Amino acid sequence: MSVQRAKQRHSLGLIAALLPSLIQATLGHGSLTQYSASLQFPLEPPTLDVSCPLPVDDRVGNGPVASTSLWTHQPKCEFSKGATKKYCAYTNSQHGPRGWSIVTRPETAADSASFLNYPLNMTWPADNNTQGTAAAPYKLVDIPGRGIGVVATRQIKQYEEVMLDYATVLVDIMFTTEVSAFLGYRLLHAAVDQLADPDSVLALEQSNGYARDKVENILRTNAFNTPLGDVPHIALYPLVSRINHGCNPNAYTRFRHETLQLSIGALRDIAEGEEITHSYIPLGLTSVERAQKLRPWGFTCTCSLCTAPTDEIAASDARRRELQELNGAARSAFQAGRPYEALRLTRQILARLPREDLLFGLGSEQYENLARVYYVLGEKAEAEKYVRKALGIRVEQGYDEGPVGEREVEVVLSRFAEEEGVRY
Ligand SMILES: [Zn+2]
Repeated sequence: MSVQRAKQRHSLGLIAALLPSLIQATLGHGSLTQYSASLQFPLEPPTLDVSCPLPVDDRVGNGPVASTSLWTHQPKCEFSKGATKKYCAYTNSQHGPRGWSIVTRPETAADSASFLNYPLNMTWPADNNTQGTAAAPYKLVDIPGRGIGVVATRQIKQYEEVMLDYATVLVDIMFTTEVSAFLGYRLLHAAVDQLADPDSVLALEQSNGYARDKVENILRTNAFNTPLGDVPHIALYPLVSRINHGCNPNAYTRFRHETLQLSIGALRDIAEGEEITHSYIPLGLTSVERAQKLRPWGFTCTCSLCTAPTDEIAASDARRRELQELNGAARSAFQAGRPYEALRLTRQILARLPREDLLFGLGSEQYENLARVYYVLGEKAEAEKYVRKALGIRVEQGYDEGPVGEREVEVVLSRFAEEEGVRY
């Protein structure tokens, strides 16, 4: 028994480390900043309702939950090991078609529940578990050897929204390590059972070898890292979970923090009948790295990139390795105060990304890097040009609202000033 496995006897373990990230644009650490944030441009914190409710937990009483409460069920709570922190399962079974539950600390629940006031903008019915409706451009089908998958029912244009789902169960990441497994499972099961449609969660794939509990397995197999305010959580998006992995995907995820929704966009034009895929792991990895990262999901990838002839895989791996090396060298050069070298290397990276179909996923970050280098070189016009380019891609991809104006460019340049002021 491995050390990792032994440790998990006492807690649910760091589930988060094994999950697909919402932010996929990470080529190693692709950013030139020493913080190399996984976010290219930090998402803004959600607008908090000033009249946000007081924290509530199970001490409120045993009577029926007040009708003004955000929760439709009496919260169920457990203490962390050492009894220093309290975590509760909260449910609003009327939010969205499946209801909504969260396992978190009382203060987090109170601070962030204001998003419940935003109406869910559901483009498609979120719970058509067997087939798409006339309006939806996809359907769920049984794909031999791949379980249930999502297939396009018509041509979908690049950047078009394929699917819009919402976080149905959220779990504070720290809960998975701080509360003993036995108590933790109780809360996880309460969170699922109290939903309007528990089966939307319970029917999800379970392929994790470490999990010893059904809901834990579903979380480990299907959940995404999802920030709630600034507290890291993991979340289940039952419909998005039906989309299979592809190392060279045709779709990507866009997080809508104000409603905790996940939008699936088409990364390129998708033909009718084509399976929709998105990458569960960071883009730009070699075949060995990808296989290793995908191990927790318990499947061997059969995407076009992984099943290509051996010599093609070797050539792709070589290009990806070169990109990773260039990226590391660019970062080192920049941090060591050699901006001209960083400039040359970043240009090389940008020239090589299209060959591996990575310009879409990693281009914005590299253009920002280029802008940053020009900024420290004092070339303001060039810096602005590439900030516009980086932001323009994000607007095009549907991450940010456009258009990109003076103000948006200025925000990034001031961030450069703040981050690079000390170093340069
Ligand atoms: Zn693959």
